[in-house]
Amino acid sequence: MKYLSNGTRFMLAIVLLSVSFICPAYRVKAQTIGDLKKELDAKEAEYKRIEEQKNLTEQEKEAVQKKIKINEDRIVELYQENQKLEEEIAELNEKIAAKYQEIKNIINTNQIMNGENSYLEYIFGASNFADFIYRASVAEQLSKYNKELTDQMSKEIEEREVKQKEIEAKQNEISALQQELQAQYARLGQKVSGLMEEMSSELDNIKMLKDNIASLQNTYHCSDTEDIDECKERARRATYIPASTGAFKRPINNAMVTANYGYYIVPGVWGYNPQWHAAMDLAGPNGSSIYAAAPGRVVSVTHQSCGNNIVYIAHNVNGTRYTTGYWHMRASYVSVGDLVDYNTVIGVQGGGSWEDSCSTGYHLDFLITLGAYKTDYFVNPRSVSVNPRNYFSFPPLIENNPGWGTGYSTRWYER
Ligand SMILES: [Zn+2]
Repeated sequence: MKYLSNGTRFMLAIVLLSVSFICPAYRVKAQTIGDLKKELDAKEAEYKRIEEQKNLTEQEKEAVQKKIKINEDRIVELYQENQKLEEEIAELNEKIAAKYQEIKNIINTNQIMNGENSYLEYIFGASNFADFIYRASVAEQLSKYNKELTDQMSKEIEEREVKQKEIEAKQNEISALQQELQAQYARLGQKVSGLMEEMSSELDNIKMLKDNIASLQNTYHCSDTEDIDECKERARRATYIPASTGAFKRPINNAMVTANYGYYIVPGVWGYNPQWHAAMDLAGPNGSSIYAAAPGRVVSVTHQSCGNNIVYIAHNVNGTRYTTGYWHMRASYVSVGDLVDYNTVIGVQGGGSWEDSCSTGYHLDFLITLGAYKTDYFVNPRSVSVNPRNYFSFPPLIENNPGWGTGYSTRWYER
């Protein structure tokens, strides 16, 4: 900031302030699942675009690699060519040396040269003119032969050296090109990894958006056009469990206990093995109305062959949350989210073996848990149920066979 004038600083402060005032306005805009889906589409398109770019860059990289390979081969070829020329030059040099030696030997053998003597000495040593001519021509021919031969070979060496120079020039050119290609290859590699990073972060964004959309659809049941904040507020209101004061009431009129909570034996059903019974069996006349045991909110309505229609209601009694469960019902009259009170008929007592694979006689299987199912816990309520006798007033069970846990209690007429 040192090099900014006071005026510039002032302007910058104004700009920053305006930005901070303008930005919150963006957030006011309502957002819907439809908006999120559009955003998701855009992100997926962006992901595809990056992926395509990455694929193209990889293709480009491969092409460069091919060029590098071709150049490598060419470099080897040129090296070999140069090496060959080098060998030929050495061979020619050897030949020149050999030739030179050979000529020297011939001259020596013919005693043309003695020690430091020159051709002239040989020539002027002629005994007569004819001999002189002869000697002169021999000397000339020898020197001419010698010269022609070495000239020829020197010329060949020169040609090869020119060729070598050309090869060296080519080598320099190719190695410069190779360096450039390798730099290009590295750059493309960096580009690919950059694009891959972008792809992975884009994928994270896509996953987050998808999870968000799924949660809004499945947990909050928002529609595509509903404002998300409003939808969440609606869902929050919907998980509200109405508070009540007072005690639980028995869920059926004019009924009796036929089995206690705990281990019991049902002859002919499981042999004589005691079975865990997570509920109490309450038997009213066939088709009796079943009532909610206390005010609350219906949190689960299911149907299955073992248990028939099953309803769970979450309660908030005197500030403590409970769940009551109602099994073997022939029919249920409530839906998830319904608010119920003591007088709400939630279904009809069933339990006939013809209608329920887990029951042998007309009764309600009734259970209670501590805590609200789907708010405080999410396991099968039967696995966390407690003894209903601790929260309800039920007459004692008179067991048919002591220790079997089944029989009949006295009948109650009021809930
Ligand atoms: Zn039962």
